[in-house]
Amino acid sequence: MQNIYGLIGLNLNENFEPTSMDGTVEEITGYIKEDFLSRKVKWTEIVVPEDQPLLSEKMKETMSNPDTSIELEYRIKNKDGEIIWIWEILQKLPAESRGSEKIQAIVRDITEQKRAEEMLRLKLEELTHSNEELEQFAYIASHDLQEPLRMVASYLQLLQRKYQGNLDEKADKYIYFAVDGATRMQDLINDLLEFSRVTTRAREPEPTDSEVILNRVLCDLELFIQENKATISHDPLPEVIVDNTQLAQVLQNLIVNGIKFHSKKAPKIHISAKRISAENKENEWLFSVQDNGIGVDPQYYNRIFEVFKRLNKKEEYPGTGIGLAICKKIVERHGGRIWVESELDKGSTFYFTLPVNS
Ligand code: ADP
Repeated sequence: MQNIYGLIGLNLNENFEPTSMDGTVEEITGYIKEDFLSRKVKWTEIVVPEDQPLLSEKMKETMSNPDTSIELEYRIKNKDGEIIWIWEILQKLPAESRGSEKIQAIVRDITEQKRAEEMLRLKLEELTHSNEELEQFAYIASHDLQEPLRMVASYLQLLQRKYQGNLDEKADKYIYFAVDGATRMQDLINDLLEFSRVTTRAREPEPTDSEVILNRVLCDLELFIQENKATISHDPLPEVIVDNTQLAQVLQNLIVNGIKFHSKKAPKIHISAKRISAENKENEWLFSVQDNGIGVDPQYYNRIFEVFKRLNKKEEYPGTGIGLAICKKIVERHGGRIWVESELDKGSTFYFTLPVNS
């Protein structure tokens, strides 16, 4: 029934009831034309009561706007008592010389489309709900695990301090591994907690000068930049509407990575932003953080944004693999996208967008 279009002519002197119609309306409603034309069945009465005011309001609107066609959606009860969603377009026709004023209505059965939309809405609701549950779980798990783990770690460290060298070599090794494992687990849990805080601690986005944020980040990283003999440059950066702490987090993670994953050359990072107009989208700001480091193999362009995904050994490059996942979550929360373009041994450019009117 989905694509059946019916045509109804309405005579307006008779309470908006049809004066002519084509056969497809019979298919949509289950009634025969004569039922309507003889007024045995009134169109306005098969409209579900909640939608009747909308229909009559739109009819009146159509009457007073002869040059406009007016669209609406409402529900009717068909002959079998089933609810049918109608999409309707109303247009006032020029008055005939002797006849009264007329509205022409084109109707279409959109029940299936409505059902699909409803299903999609329910699925989306379910997904949002389970996402929230998952986030809550990550938060609670990481938060509540911290305390007992802190206890394990500190007693292990105590054991290490007190008994290192007093037991045999094997015992020393075992204690070392236990301390190392506990410390790593603490790092992972802290990172997971930070990841879940992207939503739990989020603040309302507000107009923010991204250059001020960048300068603050560079100030915080001063020592790290000096130690690594890194050169950081940037173009003028725009005002954006963001949670400023989170923008700082994104810039900091990308800059730290650009320095950390340096090649033999001294690290050079350049930050810039330009306005782009994306297809079917409002204008966006495209930020880029470019480095001259070790680069990323194209097969991992997407995977590096996953939680705890790392490409390098922790002995070579420290870290837990949460930084880019946090960046992705923050950028997407602001309605943007993040990706990387890179060439192994040549360097990488991390891009992220922020909507101009986010
Ligand atoms: P971490 O820095 O803790 O390892 P991230 O989530 O920030 O975690 O990064 C994930 C992985 O992506 C890194 O382990 C590294 O392999 C790769 N990566 C990230 N940034 C860069 C970069 N600028 N150059 C090369 N590789 C990078």
